[in-house]
Amino acid sequence: MTTTPRTAIVTGAARGIGAATALRLAADGHAVAVIDLDEEACAATVDQITAAGGRAIAVGVDVSQADQVEAGVARIADELGAPTILVNNAGIIRDNLLFKMTQDDWDAVMNVHLRGAFLMTKAVQAHMTAEKFGRIVNLSSTSALGNRGQANYSAAKAGMQGFTKTLAIELGKFGVTANAIAPGFIQTDMTAATAERVGVSFEDFLAHAAKAIPVQRVGQPEDIAATVSFLTSDEAGFVSGQVIYVAGGPKD
Ligand code: NAP
Repeated sequence: MTTTPRTAIVTGAARGIGAATALRLAADGHAVAVIDLDEEACAATVDQITAAGGRAIAVGVDVSQADQVEAGVARIADELGAPTILVNNAGIIRDNLLFKMTQDDWDAVMNVHLRGAFLMTKAVQAHMTAEKFGRIVNLSSTSALGNRGQANYSAAKAGMQGFTKTLAIELGKFGVTANAIAPGFIQTDMTAATAERVGVSFEDFLAHAAKAIPVQRVGQPEDIAATVSFLTSDEAGFVSGQVIYVAGGPKD
């Protein structure tokens, strides 16, 4: 796969899918800005990248806060060069059935996923359009198709798909592609938290989930990182505005 070394930003990269994606993009030759809420929490990801001979910095940013996003992106451009790869991965869940879901549960999820992706993309797009190259990957979810207990999260993840398609339309003429990845069940702290909420051991939860997936296993963060690697490569330039379900089987 052809990949020119660039500066990449991955949000929510202290752990889970974001950490695996940061490691993969560094292995692809990119300098990586590892963003998470707590700068110190990014150290493990940054250390793994630098130990493998890559280049990375930790940047503490709450993606839902405009001032922090703008300052963080300015620092990244200064220290690593113009960012032309952006992976909007930061995410939270605040699951509950609709009748018990609070306004705070709703707002918190919208703010991190949708407002966060909007603010990050807005701050980074000026670098991409100036460079006449950009790769944006937004994390959606199979929950966009509807999922019990996730009215807030499924609405946000469906929103990520519309946001992605609009970015593809607006930014295509500047050499910028935008795609969404909609993961199915991926083994991370987020799915461990869901197991805890429903009162099942994580081991049983994983085994039960695997049985319902055509390839008969749950996903790993590296499955998503590999898809990001392709979508951010030079040769993926004609793939834009797509939602790729990475779920071990078809979804509709
Ligand atoms: P995770 O293990 O919970 O990691 C999410 C990361 O995002 C955490 O490090 C978290 O920081 C960070 N974060 C949360 N709010 C943030 C904010 N405002 N600003 C910056 N960083 C923030 O989650 P994951 O399972 O890797 O999921 C990553 C993405 O994939 C999410 O968008 C998720 O919705 C999506 N996804 C996951 C699955 C799955 O099965 N795991 C399936 C479909 C889609 P803290 O630790 O400080 O909270």
